[in-house]
Amino acid sequence: MKTWRFRRGLVNLGLTALVLLQSVGAGAWGNEGHTYINRVAAQKIPADMPRFLRRAVAELTYLGPEPDRWRNPSELQLKNAQEPDHFIDLERVAWLDPLPATRYEFYRKLYEKRAADRPEKDRPEKDRPDNTPPDNFHPDDYLPEHVGLQPYITLEIFGRLKAAFREYRRLRDLHQPTAPVEHAIVFYAGWLGHYVADGSQPLHTTIQYNGWVGPNPNGYTTEHKIHALFETTYVAQNIAAKDFSALVRAPERLTDPFQQYVAYLRDSNRQVETVYALEKAGGFTGKGTPEAFTFTTQRLAAGSQMLLNLWYTAWQDSATNPETPAAPPKPAEPK
Ligand SMILES: [Zn+2]
Repeated sequence: MKTWRFRRGLVNLGLTALVLLQSVGAGAWGNEGHTYINRVAAQKIPADMPRFLRRAVAELTYLGPEPDRWRNPSELQLKNAQEPDHFIDLERVAWLDPLPATRYEFYRKLYEKRAADRPEKDRPEKDRPDNTPPDNFHPDDYLPEHVGLQPYITLEIFGRLKAAFREYRRLRDLHQPTAPVEHAIVFYAGWLGHYVADGSQPLHTTIQYNGWVGPNPNGYTTEHKIHALFETTYVAQNIAAKDFSALVRAPERLTDPFQQYVAYLRDSNRQVETVYALEKAGGFTGKGTPEAFTFTTQRLAAGSQMLLNLWYTAWQDSATNPETPAAPPKPAEPK
């Protein structure tokens, strides 16, 4: 077996029952967690943002799990195209810091790396990239769809939201109807919430996606169960939105949304091992442990906070946009 994600693909090919389980389990936070993160953020939209958005709590909540509704094999092209949006294996790109700010530059770097690298087993240990499990490496691990595209889809939707806010401001200032653009804004804002929430789930930022791979001195679980146990079963049975709502503060305007979002993903990645340690201690089994509860509510709150910050930043940044191309010069009035 070459990689965990490749294995995941083979499992999907082989076992229909597991396809169904994977479809449910791979959604990050499950239905409940995604719903909570969007709802809490929506309830905290400040008074200096548009009133129609503050009133759209039900719609924004509904849209939290929306991309997980795009994973059905009956919509094959959609399922295939959107799967890498939900994760990024940060250990695979430890050599690429900072991450390029744009999707196609990221692709280019990954393809260059893939062409340059030999399978891990064929080279001396000293040449191995940091954190890469030695028996679990293949050049195809560097394909963009295997590394994952989390920060790119997120900032692309942020861009859509910001552009829609700008159009809303323009129409409002012209006293033209804004209902159509309001619908677009609510959709973009809700859709954005899904990926931001995925990013707060540590297991969506790592090669340790669902069972420990590589050296395992602490004896963490290698079974392919921890992912869904943590984000879906445990959350659904033990956590409600009110359990973390108070942890989410007023939004902050981000000065560099892409880099700050990547920092948020790296922070999530630093907590991967905690998820495994909590699991080992029975933290997510049944009613779990107080430590697991605190950890999980903090991760959910981090997701809501980043989502609220991105909404707020998109709104604020839509007011002044230095990148807007100047209007073409008017032809001279005929004299
Ligand atoms: Zn997801």
